[in-house]
Amino acid sequence: MTLYKIAAERIARSRHLIALTGAGISVESGIPDFRSPGGLWSKYDPMEYGHIESFRRNPQRVWQMLLEMDGLLLGADPNPAHFALADLEKRGLLKTVITQNVDSLHQRAGSVNVIEFHGHNRSLRCDSCGKRYSRKDVLLAVMPPCCRCGLPLRPDFVFFGESIPATAHGEAMLAAENCDMMLIIGTSASVAPASFLPTSAKRGGAYLLEINPDQTELSFHLSDLHIAEPAGKALPAIIEELDQLGSEETKSC
Ligand code: NAD
Ligand code: ZN
Repeated sequence: MTLYKIAAERIARSRHLIALTGAGISVESGIPDFRSPGGLWSKYDPMEYGHIESFRRNPQRVWQMLLEMDGLLLGADPNPAHFALADLEKRGLLKTVITQNVDSLHQRAGSVNVIEFHGHNRSLRCDSCGKRYSRKDVLLAVMPPCCRCGLPLRPDFVFFGESIPATAHGEAMLAAENCDMMLIIGTSASVAPASFLPTSAKRGGAYLLEINPDQTELSFHLSDLHIAEPAGKALPAIIEELDQLGSEETKSC
């Protein structure tokens, strides 16, 4: 039996399936993860440019990187992996996607129940007066973009050194505790608190299916099944197997 078929059978049997996604699911959309050679993160050290202290010290400098990132995210389209998760949700099989990504590609592919663990790129906000602006309403012609109160705007996502938004954190923990199967796609989930999610699911008895071309800490210690392939290849193949299972069941009725 192929790994795709094993995965499809597990998904078909699950009662509360959720997915946890990371930067890797968007690599095939042209958005590099921190490990991808070349691209944005070779030019800007994420630990420096992505840290809240750097932003507070010099917002103009960090906005150089944010401006490039903004163009990259707005120019990217969902790939077959994002569409496959949206398809699983429409079939009533996938209950929730918890994503660490800020690119909004799950929603653009049609996923509805999405928990954005690290925020998103659709708005900017002012840390001083709390006002939020839709990204579409802010011209990024002058750097850094400023709030009406005169202080620099920031993206509505989490920088290194900041805590996870409380609602997203609470909802994600609850979803992980209550699932009986978790798809872990394109993330090493090695950094807390995202790393607690697979552990918490496993503790509750969930089956963990990891999709990642590389091995991670999870593959060694936690995952029940690891499909070592790009998500854009593996997820559509699993959906095909699900369709096969469906037609086999219809035949045997
Ligand atoms: P990570 O730990 O989530 O690593 C990415 C993982 O994806 C790696 O293990 C890699 O082997 C795997 N991967 C690469 N290509 C893949 C593919 N085609 N299919 C499946 N898996 C693939 O995270 P990171 O890159 O170190 O990022 C850390 C944080 O920054 C996360 O919160 C991440 O979501 C965020 N980030 C977000 C974006 C985005 O919004 N698209 C991009 C970069 C980083
Ligand atoms: Zn303000």
